[in-house]
Amino acid sequence: MFQLSDEEFREATALLQDLIRFDTSNPPGNELPAAQYVAGVLEAEGIVPELVEAEPGRASVVGRLRGEGGARPLLLSSHLDVVPAVEGEWTHPPFSAVEAEGCIWGRGTVDMKGMTAMGLTVMRLLARKGYSLDRDIILAAVADEEAGCTHGSAHLVQHRRELIDAEYVINEVGGFTLEVKGKRFYPIQVGEKGIAWLRLCFRGTPGHGSLPAPESCVARLADAAGKLARSRLPIHPTEVAREFIGEMGRELGFPESLVMPLLSTPGRGGFVLDHLVKNPEQKASLQATLCNTVNPTIIRAGSKINVVPGEAVLELDGRLLPGRTASDLVAEVQGVIGRDFEIEVIREASGAVHSWKTPLFESIRDVIKERDPDGVVLPYLVPGFTDSRCYAETGATCYGFYPLRLPEGMVFSRLFHGTDERIPLESFRFGIEALYDVVTRFGEG
Ligand SMILES: [Zn+2]
Repeated sequence: MFQLSDEEFREATALLQDLIRFDTSNPPGNELPAAQYVAGVLEAEGIVPELVEAEPGRASVVGRLRGEGGARPLLLSSHLDVVPAVEGEWTHPPFSAVEAEGCIWGRGTVDMKGMTAMGLTVMRLLARKGYSLDRDIILAAVADEEAGCTHGSAHLVQHRRELIDAEYVINEVGGFTLEVKGKRFYPIQVGEKGIAWLRLCFRGTPGHGSLPAPESCVARLADAAGKLARSRLPIHPTEVAREFIGEMGRELGFPESLVMPLLSTPGRGGFVLDHLVKNPEQKASLQATLCNTVNPTIIRAGSKINVVPGEAVLELDGRLLPGRTASDLVAEVQGVIGRDFEIEVIREASGAVHSWKTPLFESIRDVIKERDPDGVVLPYLVPGFTDSRCYAETGATCYGFYPLRLPEGMVFSRLFHGTDERIPLESFRFGIEALYDVVTRFGEG
């Protein structure tokens, strides 16, 4: 097991703090100065960086450490942009990278400049040691993930594919600890859900606001939105959901060992999810793992208070399980609220699942097992999307593995995009060392 020296860890921490201090809130992103900084770090280690500016100010940077064997590269990817932060709500200013209470505080520490710093540190150490692996290791720090990847990974895949073409990709979301009933799990992302954004248009007879109109388009839209938000669409257990839920149940023991596998059993899953899962957060995440979902997010109707409008529009953020399409989702939506509206698919992107029966996944499992013998690695389907969606188009096998052993009681999902986002220094150290072990062990072939 690799161990960082104190000096190496200080250098890595300084690197993370420097990265946090570039305000790369997206919009507008403005990743160029941060990308130039990463390029400088690579250059200092003799790695020639390539800066790719998709639009003025929207830059990604890629560096490659040459390997000796013929195996296809491993890409370590992270994004440089962050979601905005409202300064007044934070204990420490979000772009100050203050060290306090054993943590570095700031927007991007968890999502995901901490991973940029880990990847850079691994590259730096490999370069300094002249460590030669059986394949190239590529580091990409990209723009624009938080707004849909257009100026970052999507741009690289479309226009500079030769830079990022790899057999495997390691990216977010996974590798953090998930505590359930005192047991520590390490979900590793092996798949992402797809998107099917829908627009529903309800029509009715316009009229004067002084006369009741119980069947107006606004009233029907409101009923539909409420019904959809409270409904669960049918369960379609995927292989990754079965493994995630089944394995977690086995580890937790009775009664979970009995109840959890029922979630992915046809005819029973719905009852279990609706009546036996009491914690609302757990229920939401299990539902997202097992079902297509829709959330009403935008409503447009009326422009004058005394006129009943003739048209009302409802937009739904629909998410698809891998293997499902927008037309499957439309049929499920109609099953809940009927067909009394026009429906249009605004955007569709399919989900993807990568095999977890691979040497890289085995390396990840082994390294976690060594560093945390009580920890359990699970393949995991992420309900949202990341840059992996774009890299998957190149045929690469993509995993979310941003290793973070968090202290007890610290919940990853509350840090991610949250106020007071911060990374415990010990978790950061764990991450660098685990990532180093995975890259070297896997790259030794
Ligand atoms: Zn992210």
